[in-house]
Amino acid sequence: MNCFKKLEKIMTYGLDRRGMEGANLTGELKGAAMALKKANTVLIVTGFVIRDRLFGETDGPIGAVSVAGALEMLDKNAIIITDIYSKKILETALKSVDLKTVLEIINKHDETIFHETLLNKYKPDCLISIERPGETADGMMYSMTGECISSLVPSMDPLFKEAKNRGICTIGIGDGGNEIGMGKIKQYVAANVPYGDIIAASFATDYLILAGVSNWGAHALVAAMSVLFNRDLLYNVETGERLLRAIVDVGAVNGITKQNTLTVDGLGLDENIRILNEIKAVVEEAV
Ligand code: CA
Repeated sequence: MNCFKKLEKIMTYGLDRRGMEGANLTGELKGAAMALKKANTVLIVTGFVIRDRLFGETDGPIGAVSVAGALEMLDKNAIIITDIYSKKILETALKSVDLKTVLEIINKHDETIFHETLLNKYKPDCLISIERPGETADGMMYSMTGECISSLVPSMDPLFKEAKNRGICTIGIGDGGNEIGMGKIKQYVAANVPYGDIIAASFATDYLILAGVSNWGAHALVAAMSVLFNRDLLYNVETGERLLRAIVDVGAVNGITKQNTLTVDGLGLDENIRILNEIKAVVEEAV
């Protein structure tokens, strides 16, 4: 098995928890990594608010920092974009791993102007969405259990649509079917995922990385880049643990249980560390 296949196998562990195991995407991880290899400036959007807590979840920001760290090691420019609900999480995460990555905060109702400004200001070659709510065909955004969050969340779909118009490469990373990028498999999501017919996101990114947990998809993308550059760009397990502790300390919640615990998508620290270790092992074998 080649290393990209190995990474796909590791990152898709647990997809059956949401009915996603039959979506059958292959080659997306390598394609996305190759697109990033060519890119100089990358915008990364993340942050998923939990409606009951009015605070962002632990899945997404960790992955965003993982990808931003790799881009910084390669002397590429990374800019992370989130909303007020995940601002503190991202500030804390970036500080805890000592990254210089710029953080931009998007406000509700400023979406269209903000997106034009962002694309003009940074002139990115690539956009990545990591666990970011995506609009359905009727322009609404939903949680995995079908709660409408459109009144809270600034939509990043206009940013992705405008990027596509400008010929900028787009990558989506998600695990539930309601995130930006899932348009690529929206029929599958609608037919197989709980509440899928309500929540399926409509924008199809050029590459879609489907993982058991979005953070794992981001780590796998960094691992795939490591293979292409023949250089280990993935942070170590101690850093991964420190990051999760730091963001939970400032209030990040588990997207499934909605609790402020040392967990991601219902899975404990041990499970997350195990997957990171497995991804790390593929990189160490390949580079
Ligand atoms: Ca998730």
